[in-house]
Amino acid sequence: MVKCTGKSVLKGIAIGKIYVYRKKEFTLVKTHIDDIETELKRFNLAVAEAERQLETLYQEALASVGEAEAKIFEVHGMMLEDEGYLEDIKSMIKNNCNAEYAVKEVGDTYSQMFAAMDNEYMRARSVDILDISNKVINILAGVGDDAIKSEEPVILLADDLTPSETIQMDKDKVLAFVTIHGSANSHTAILARSLNLPSLVSTDVALLDEYQGKMAIVDGFTEELIINPPEEVLQELTAKRDEWISETESLKKLIGQDNVTTDGRRVNVYCNIGEVADVERVLESDGGGIGLFRSEFLYLGRDNCPTEEEQFESYKAVLEKMNGKKVIIRTLDIGADKKADYLGLEHEDNPAMGYRAIRICLDQPDIFRTQLRAIYRASAYGTAAIMFPMIISVDEIRKIKDIVEDIKRELAAEDIPMGEVELGIMIETPAAAVISDQLAKEVEFFSIGTNDLTQYTLAIDRQNQRLESICDTHHTAILRLIQMTIENGHKENTWVGICGELASDTTLTKTFVDMGVDELSVSPTYVLPLRKAIREI
Ligand code: PEP
Ligand code: MG
Repeated sequence: MVKCTGKSVLKGIAIGKIYVYRKKEFTLVKTHIDDIETELKRFNLAVAEAERQLETLYQEALASVGEAEAKIFEVHGMMLEDEGYLEDIKSMIKNNCNAEYAVKEVGDTYSQMFAAMDNEYMRARSVDILDISNKVINILAGVGDDAIKSEEPVILLADDLTPSETIQMDKDKVLAFVTIHGSANSHTAILARSLNLPSLVSTDVALLDEYQGKMAIVDGFTEELIINPPEEVLQELTAKRDEWISETESLKKLIGQDNVTTDGRRVNVYCNIGEVADVERVLESDGGGIGLFRSEFLYLGRDNCPTEEEQFESYKAVLEKMNGKKVIIRTLDIGADKKADYLGLEHEDNPAMGYRAIRICLDQPDIFRTQLRAIYRASAYGTAAIMFPMIISVDEIRKIKDIVEDIKRELAAEDIPMGEVELGIMIETPAAAVISDQLAKEVEFFSIGTNDLTQYTLAIDRQNQRLESICDTHHTAILRLIQMTIENGHKENTWVGICGELASDTTLTKTFVDMGVDELSVSPTYVLPLRKAIREI
């Protein structure tokens, strides 16, 4: 049995076989490592795994093509045991360099050294050095083939997952994610939560091929991954999983009930979605509407911007399925961890504070106008609202409103039917919260994005797993900004919701209700637990 710990993104239990997921590509960069011990351990494990793979290749080649051809894998295995090579890499790691980069640097140096030798045989070894270095780098970085090749649903073990990889995955085949990197506030974690997958991020596990197909348990309560559990552990956790499932089932008696406190205060409980398919889960969990449709997921995992027609079809499908319940579509919030190569966004050192979201839309109005046309055209099929991300000024809203008016005129001239569309903004920058008195005069609603509001207020990168222990999501500064936003909104009859992950934190539900929040928008998984919490106030 192997026990590893990580950070839980959803309290639940998954039991199934492991699928070791390797990416096709990654970018090799030098990073500063503080935990040298863990990095050395990671390197040693990768070397052992490379040796194991070479041994398998040797045996396979021996059986299929004969000893002479198989010999090369034996030579590679011997090179991988070379003390000088290994020690040079370890000494770079001891100087705080990440293992991938250290292997690349030392591999390149040795390869050049061989390439400069007089002896022809030795010169030819230059390529072999690069080959074995790449093998170790790929194991370290989890590079491989990214399709899930399994008939049954699996526990997906990966180095890290980007939102675009996650969105493209065959979700029916996944019971849980376990990643070595990643933070609980990343969009990948948010996606896992919305799919009701009890997953772990930042887990101290190695991506070993020997784990492929092994039985494992992800316990989101104890934040553990247990590989090869003995029979008694398997039984104990199967019982715990069944209890979790039956508790979730028992919440279903709240379907159809109001989100109302014992003293009669009503709060809307809406859902966050990322794609059309998520609406099924919204309806199953009795969400009152959609408080955040992260439209940028329509732009991920493809080679070009979705056309007006494609977007129109998606928004229309969501509006129709929601059958008159409100659907708040957030305009494109691309950038930071949500990347689309075809937009040609340049590398930025600080992308969370960079060229993203509304900044791109106002700078490249064609992209923005296409999306707005699609939303307004779809608005005839239900109750649509639009909100704009990353707002920092009144000026931005005025510019947005000018474009919106222009689009409406354009569509009216084309005789295209449109519904009434509420306009709102996300309050997710400290600037927006601080000037929420001014912003409230401009829009019909606010939706507080606590994920980004927390990152910018506390100056803690939400992607940085090393900072999670100091990321106090209940920080007084954040609660004050939320309270201030609600008060300022209400003074101007602007309703205020919360759509960041904090909305589902039931230890804060009473606080938010006391502050006067009008709507809480959460992953479908949390609708009923939140309804229960509201009804107990
Ligand atoms: C937020 O920032 O809280 C939010 C809801 O948006 P996202 O998580 O997509 O950045
Ligand atoms: Mg945000």
